[in-house]
Amino acid sequence: MHRTDYAIQRTFLRTLPHGDDLLSAIETLCREEGIVLGTFSVIGAVASATYGYYDQQQRRYKKLERDGAFELISCSGNVSIKDDNPFIHAHILFGDEKGSCFGGHLMSPTKIFAAELLLQELDGERLVREHDETTGLFLWK
Ligand code: ZN
Repeated sequence: MHRTDYAIQRTFLRTLPHGDDLLSAIETLCREEGIVLGTFSVIGAVASATYGYYDQQQRRYKKLERDGAFELISCSGNVSIKDDNPFIHAHILFGDEKGSCFGGHLMSPTKIFAAELLLQELDGERLVREHDETTGLFLWK
């Protein structure tokens, strides 16, 4: 099923709190503002990095972690519904002091040094995540 009739509602531009966990900070904004559907991007810098690689054979995330100061080159994601609550799904690209990049599925803890968020709330049919037999992931039904 393809849904196309979405309209942008509120647009948020925020500096997220220094020292907070990135995923939690986005979740908190959504909870406080009642956002259940939307898309977002973040740029900035982090003081630690935790991210996942989905093993398609094992059907589970391998959790990867790196301590240190990194550029938050790009993070993009969306807000939809899982288990009756707003759920954040984001992917992130980090850069080290040599300009090398690494990243994956955003996980906690990823500690914010400085982060600028652009979030656009959408209005339209809500997207609900359910377990998908083919991939083992929770996808939009
Ligand atoms: Zn992902």
